[in-house]
Amino acid sequence: MKETVRQIFTEYLNVHGHRKTPERYAILDTIYSIDGHFNVDTLYSLMVEQEKFRVSRATLYNTITLLIDAHLVVKHLFGSTSQYEKCYNRDTHHHQICTQCGQVIEFQDEALQQLIEQTRMSRFVLSHYSLYLYGLCSKCSRANKRILKNLKNKKEK
Ligand SMILES: [Zn+2]
Ligand SMILES: [Zn+2]
Repeated sequence: MKETVRQIFTEYLNVHGHRKTPERYAILDTIYSIDGHFNVDTLYSLMVEQEKFRVSRATLYNTITLLIDAHLVVKHLFGSTSQYEKCYNRDTHHHQICTQCGQVIEFQDEALQQLIEQTRMSRFVLSHYSLYLYGLCSKCSRANKRILKNLKNKKEK
């Protein structure tokens, strides 16, 4: 997997006349070792820990932009925060986003997937998609209920 994405990236860099720096490949390797979503801060600390590579945030942003363009990384906007994830050879999946704590949970649904893929779209060829579902995670909704209950108890006293 890591070899294949390296090859794709090399081709991309060649075609677009970008330099093939060791930093860029180290960033790619690190991203493909992450399961799930990440932001630039988590990527930065992983680079230091795993690869012993100190790269500037500017280099991280710049390389992520190239990787998005090369279809190796996708960018998500979960509420107001940007997160990224690897996308080569990943199955279609959706995201449940808690509007209170920001937790993102991935989920897959075969029936939903079939429904979308069989939907006729006029003058449009679907390549990929991801649904964002906003709501409250079970932890937050339990916490909210507790707060409400406490308020009610106080009023009754
Ligand atoms: Zn939550
Ligand atoms: Zn995801």
